[in-house]
Amino acid sequence: MKNPVIGILTNVLIVEEGPYIGGERIYVNRDYIKNVLKSGGIPLLLPIIDDIEIIQKQIEGLDGLILSGGQDVNPKLYGQAPSPFLGAVRDDRDFFEIHALQAAFARRIPILGVCRGMQLLNVAFGGTLHQDIPQELGFDHQQKHHRHDPCHKVEIYSDTLLHKILENSHIDTNSFHHQSVKDLASCFRINARSEDGVIEGIEHKEGFVLGVQWHPEMMVEKHHDMQKLFSALVAAAR
Ligand code: MN
Repeated sequence: MKNPVIGILTNVLIVEEGPYIGGERIYVNRDYIKNVLKSGGIPLLLPIIDDIEIIQKQIEGLDGLILSGGQDVNPKLYGQAPSPFLGAVRDDRDFFEIHALQAAFARRIPILGVCRGMQLLNVAFGGTLHQDIPQELGFDHQQKHHRHDPCHKVEIYSDTLLHKILENSHIDTNSFHHQSVKDLASCFRINARSEDGVIEGIEHKEGFVLGVQWHPEMMVEKHHDMQKLFSALVAAAR
């Protein structure tokens, strides 16, 4: 059986010291690559570019797509002014990812959005975000301890793609986000929430377009069930 090619969208790192100071590097956390490989996929990093035609060509060669974590999505994309509590944004990344997502969605290849990736899915399809959970909701979803370890419970709704994949109604997840989905885009449905009501998962009403607010790729090493998300993406890509 063929190994599907899974594109992973990347981030920008600005070099802070040495002779390349101020230079930009394209990167992704290695956890994503390891999990795609472990699931039988061929991981392929897609650099952030600004040419729409070339973005479409990047996507043409893929069988599946992962939208990775990172900065906040610019609130202008969901019609809001920036709050003083908004974190860093990168318009070049937003532009790239929205076009990559549109191209992938048009080809109907399976898509998994992680953390920012899930937020971008919602915004790209017309939803909005809480710009800062502590400010707007009065509690925190930013854990301080190790990335492998969970910090809150999540309820998975039955009759959802996510439930089918994880085969569980309650899971413990890590939490590294200060933003979350507010108004859901109409083509999505909620498939998971934490006990305090924060939306922790969304999925498209048709096809494999799945977003999770936690970081399964960081948990896999100690919590093997999280591998199921990547295995399901690769299986769907096949
Ligand atoms: Mn959370």
